[in-house]
Amino acid sequence: MGEFELIERYFAAVGATRSDVVLGVGDDAAVLSVPAGEELVACTDTLVAGRHFPDGFEAADIGWRSLAVNLSDLAAMGAAPAWALLALTLPALDEDWLEGFVTGFAALANAHGVALVGGDTTRGPLCMTVQALGTVPRGTALRRRGARAGDLVYVTGWPGDAAAGLALLTGRLSGSGANRGALEAKFRRPEPRVAFGIRLRGIASACIDVSDGLAADLGHLAAASGVGAVVRAEELPLSRALYTLAGEARARDFALGGGDDYELVFTVPPAARPTLARLTAGAGAPACHCIGEIVAGRGVRVVGERGELPVPRGWDHFRA
Ligand code: ADP
Ligand code: MG
Repeated sequence: MGEFELIERYFAAVGATRSDVVLGVGDDAAVLSVPAGEELVACTDTLVAGRHFPDGFEAADIGWRSLAVNLSDLAAMGAAPAWALLALTLPALDEDWLEGFVTGFAALANAHGVALVGGDTTRGPLCMTVQALGTVPRGTALRRRGARAGDLVYVTGWPGDAAAGLALLTGRLSGSGANRGALEAKFRRPEPRVAFGIRLRGIASACIDVSDGLAADLGHLAAASGVGAVVRAEELPLSRALYTLAGEARARDFALGGGDDYELVFTVPPAARPTLARLTAGAGAPACHCIGEIVAGRGVRVVGERGELPVPRGWDHFRA
């Protein structure tokens, strides 16, 4: 099988069928129709073998993750995902691996109505770059910038679970049974908060997704908004699985510094609290907890019952 047969067999019809795809896989570029009154929201993220997922990580999980990390960026912008492109570099033509990868990728693409409309396939060390494209009604995209002193800080889901899952997969944390399975699943198959991000349009004053670590990503939001943030350690939501396997102190470290959560951290003015409460009470809404507030100044502080706690630094590929 050559490059073009491979593309035809595995990538020609992946994900949703959409009427706004004028031209998909097969030409020199895709042609896509952006609805009138909407803005295009674009992002891209790369996964490198051994860096973003451990060796031996299942192909289907890699496929899912490669799209999930991108849909999470769209979710943080309040965008509705529509299209994706996939640049895939493979060390060898392994049909089982390709089948698994596409199955995982397509499962998430179908769940969110995303069509794979193009890409590139090359030989080299295992690596993939996905680009995700979505839309928002003009002027409604959520941003990192916009939080103000007095706003409340919320996080969706159970931060720290995914980082603990990776620690289990790589032997830095031990545990077994259902707790282990639940945490590993959070790392293997993150669920981007797409529907919730869309519902936060017009409600959140600022929003970011958690990829580098809750404290670090909240720090990015605060810096972009020109404000500071205070997190109350006892308000951090810790899942029972995380608490059980890691213990309270280490669980809190995973939650604040772990990364890979792909949850949303966002701020709302206090007056929007009832609106948010209605939103989170709705069917299908993720768990959502207030963990602190925005203050004048800069930086993130974490306050516990016995004073300030150290704030973990987030992931940085090029930190000296
Ligand atoms: P070109 O040489 O003009 O860049 P390619 O031969 O790389 O085109 O790709 C042929 C077609 O297949 C293009 O439409 C491209 O978008 C698509 N394609 C290539 N690789 C992938 C992939 N991994 N996933 C989805 N589409 C792909
Ligand atoms: Mg090409």
